[in-house]
Amino acid sequence: MMNNLEQRYRDVCGRIKDASQRLQVTPPTLLAVSKKHPSESLRALYQLGQRDFGESYWQEAEQKMLALKDLDGIVWHFIGPIQSNKTRPIAEHFHWVHSVDREKIARRLSEQRPQGLPPLNLCLQVNIDEEKSKSGVAPEDVLALAQAIHQLPNVRLAGLMCIPEHSDDPQQQRVPFQRLARLQQDLAQAGIVTKTLSMGMSDDLEAAIAEGSTILRIGTALFGERQKTVTNPS
Ligand SMILES: *Cc1c(COP(=O)(O)O)cnc(C)c1O
Repeated sequence: MMNNLEQRYRDVCGRIKDASQRLQVTPPTLLAVSKKHPSESLRALYQLGQRDFGESYWQEAEQKMLALKDLDGIVWHFIGPIQSNKTRPIAEHFHWVHSVDREKIARRLSEQRPQGLPPLNLCLQVNIDEEKSKSGVAPEDVLALAQAIHQLPNVRLAGLMCIPEHSDDPQQQRVPFQRLARLQQDLAQAGIVTKTLSMGMSDDLEAAIAEGSTILRIGTALFGERQKTVTNPS
């Protein structure tokens, strides 16, 4: 008998495979957004073959990295807001950061990335719907920020990320994703070629795939509703 987590994992993988086949595109990477879920759930997904996990809070991520340090090949992605005094552990322990929206953060991540580790992969978080209260660089400022980050030695500008306004309309869902893909093309025209579009979540992954997503960030559809608190696994 399959448990709920396994069933949801197979459902999500099936949705990604179906949409990618229908659209004749390479299936994007599934990033399992594990914030507020216990390390046992990450371990169970790992045993089903999942390798990429996304966390939004350093202290919570640290506990899980310790609890899972026997597992080889996990790729850790930081996807939450970053304060500039909190960059060091992120530079030291993650492979990816999706939520870079200012130069100061990128500069600190580059300075604090330990020598001997490969460059830290960065995505610029773009405030794609230009919402007042949302974090993210404004679309018109993406090129300047990308050019600044491109010069930094210990980070690699991988691409762009967005969290659009919610919509239930599958056509409307595509609009911000298309806009992010255009921004990536504009960067390429300016000589900054990137490959990653981190876009698409539980409710809009098909729309994101249709617009060229390369990383889907999926939480609820995989793990169910998030817990209010996470207990220390040890
Ligand atoms: C929490 C989170 C997700 C996952 O959201 P779900 O609705 O649970 O799939 C994706 N991206 C970011 C940046 C998040 O913080």
